[in-house]
Amino acid sequence: MENLNYYLKQAKEGHCAIGHFNFATEDVLKGIVEASRDAGALAVMVGTSEGEAGFVGMKEAAALVKAMRDDFNYPIFLNADHYKSFEKCKEAIDAGYDSIIIDASKLPNEENIALTKQVVDYCRSVNQDISVEGELGYLKGSSEVQTKIGISPADYSKPEEVADFVSRTGVDRMAVVFGNIHGIVTDQEEKLDIEHFSKIVVAESRPCYVLHGASGLKDKDVSAAIKAGITNVHFNTELRVAYRNEIDKQFHAHPNETTPYKYLGPAVDEVKKLVIAKIRLFMGK
Ligand SMILES: [Zn+2]
Repeated sequence: MENLNYYLKQAKEGHCAIGHFNFATEDVLKGIVEASRDAGALAVMVGTSEGEAGFVGMKEAAALVKAMRDDFNYPIFLNADHYKSFEKCKEAIDAGYDSIIIDASKLPNEENIALTKQVVDYCRSVNQDISVEGELGYLKGSSEVQTKIGISPADYSKPEEVADFVSRTGVDRMAVVFGNIHGIVTDQEEKLDIEHFSKIVVAESRPCYVLHGASGLKDKDVSAAIKAGITNVHFNTELRVAYRNEIDKQFHAHPNETTPYKYLGPAVDEVKKLVIAKIRLFMGK
């Protein structure tokens, strides 16, 4: 099977995007993979944040992904989503992750570059197939439903800094900020600055550009970002909301039910519906 960078390149050439979805349990992981395959996605990225990895276990996550990749004969790639230290990245790589996001975007620029380069060097020394993502610009928010977040063009990734960052670190993918925020914000319209993003692509065309925080964005904004050069989209919070709400509904409808798959199954079905809809959007269908 080809590596993740190969599929990202395919997406770039085809002007579409590969989806990235998070999981912390086996049922959600399987739902994401089944939905991606059924929707005809080229490949799928599944991610664990540091918190999710702490819950499911890094080695366990890698083993589950490997088992499903074999079972489904389908390209599934496991990503360490926003890992903040070299030690955490190394732990994930050593556990068998296919991909890393070293997120040092809160550090001063030079420190961000140094830490990202350290992770890239380690990955290259272990396995050339590992894909590495860096992040530049301050991506606000969290994977929760929030009321309001202040974001201004001052928070955006600067085109010349992105070009410098990519040249000096050698990352495969770049997470950039151009109006996107993590999570869902209820009292504010989330809006992407596509024009600003296009300036980044003009300044540095080599990496795969990644859109984080697609939950809460309008479909037409996501499509416009893909058209402008995004080839990987992270979509998470809305999946969590759908999963949680359906479990809630099942508990209310069947208060005496104790068999986990009977109340988790319908929740996974809701996750699958959403993943299928998003993959169609990412593929431009
Ligand atoms: Zn993210």
